[in-house]
Amino acid sequence: MDKILNYINGILTEPIEGKFFHTINPAIGKPYALVSDSDKADVANAVAAASVAFPKWSATPARDRSAILIKIAELIERDLDKLALAESIDQGKPVALAKALDIPRAAANIRFYATAILHESSEAHFTNQEAINYTQHTPVGVVGCISPWNLPLYLFTWKIAPAIAAGCTVVAKPSEITPMTAYLFSKLCIEAGLPAGVLNIVHGVGAKAGQAIIEHAEIKAISFTGGTATGKIIAATAGPMFKKLSLELGGKNPNIIFTDCDFEKAVATSIQSSFSNQGEICLCGSRIFVERPLYEKFVTEFTTRTKALIVGDPLDEKTNLGAIASEAHLTKILSYIELARQEGGTIIQGGNQVKLIGRCAEGYFLEPTIITGLSHTCRTNQEEIFGPVVTIMPFDTEEEVLKYANSTTYGLAATIWTENLTRAHRVAAKVNSGIVWVNCWLFRDLRTPFGGMKQSGIGREGGFEALKFFTDEKNVCIKL
Ligand code: NAD
Repeated sequence: MDKILNYINGILTEPIEGKFFHTINPAIGKPYALVSDSDKADVANAVAAASVAFPKWSATPARDRSAILIKIAELIERDLDKLALAESIDQGKPVALAKALDIPRAAANIRFYATAILHESSEAHFTNQEAINYTQHTPVGVVGCISPWNLPLYLFTWKIAPAIAAGCTVVAKPSEITPMTAYLFSKLCIEAGLPAGVLNIVHGVGAKAGQAIIEHAEIKAISFTGGTATGKIIAATAGPMFKKLSLELGGKNPNIIFTDCDFEKAVATSIQSSFSNQGEICLCGSRIFVERPLYEKFVTEFTTRTKALIVGDPLDEKTNLGAIASEAHLTKILSYIELARQEGGTIIQGGNQVKLIGRCAEGYFLEPTIITGLSHTCRTNQEEIFGPVVTIMPFDTEEEVLKYANSTTYGLAATIWTENLTRAHRVAAKVNSGIVWVNCWLFRDLRTPFGGMKQSGIGREGGFEALKFFTDEKNVCIKL
């Protein structure tokens, strides 16, 4: 079996204790590779390498940092098919999605920050005729980047690209459930000539390797994407150490559909925003609110199209929904479907595990599921399920739907469907989410601030926000 090794100080290396665990291919339900089960000592080595590399890397001119990053982006593009296949096998997503979304976006993340640093400027403030203040941005030092399993290489690169571009050195940990593409990525970094120690990738479980990163005194900032419960642990550990924190956490996103929407676009896009990547995207709209005059028509059409979705082998190009990322996650989603039944919901479509035949007979597949008849306050509508499960609820007024939309502890993303521009602005202003899409979903411009309100996170990624996060600001005041 292939071994997924750590990448420390420019070298692929086994964990010090020599321990490994299996990673599972969720489409066949079987182990297919061994993952380094790293601990504190491996993290300490990675931090030491990053600390040694920091002075030189942070002093490397932006154009040289940029050139190496561009080379890495080119190598990702060269290996598109190989990386997409690896992502699909490791995560369960359709290979077609990995080819169209995950891997191109990983290359785009790197290119974006490789070029952004060529266009940086800093602020100056003139105090009457008496003084000039200017702001310096300096890389914070060694930083920790921790990412989840749903969009593995996409979210991994979304963190490390701005960190490295800004001149920081990095100790990163991908999810233990989907470590393969980060491992392949470390080989591309070596091929591209990234200096030793600039990026160190430590594989292992969150409570051990991840926790060791959070706790390490020399790590100055933590950029984390994952669940809200883990975010709380990280904040509790890193907060008292006064580390900079960027937390991108869970969501329970409302999808608000008004009668005056473009019906065809609203239905077609809602199918995507509900079930893309098996609903395992933090931005998926899991609570669909439909204005009452349109409710029956929407439910009928949405259900018909959901029924037509193909749950199947992720390697089959025709598949719409692949495997759920892990058996534990499948069990969790099924338990929420059962909860919805207990709470009085009606499963109008799906609700069951899918048993495929042939190669994928033991895989973790689930029907795309639609639930109606629930109140906005029940647990099914308040807690993140993170799977191909949506609820649909009617509403009568804007005021009412805003109350429903804003009723959870989350505030990541919202989608609004209306052809009335005034209404779009009004509702967008009142919905408590860090990201609002009007008449579209997951339409991304990497320059925009990305992140959540309330328990969906702290801080923003994207654009110059992320570069700023990885730098310290210093004001220099010169008296004239
Ligand atoms: P998770 O919180 O279980 O794990 C995320 C990462 O944190 C993994 O690498 C894990 O090993 C690590 N980790 C776990 N415990 C840790 C600890 N004590 N210290 C340090 N690291 C630790 O999340 P997940 O199940 O991998 O991902 C799903 C969650 O991520 C969902 O809640 C989803 O909404 C969220 N998510 C959010 C965004 C966003 O941008 N807001 C994007 C994608 C996913």
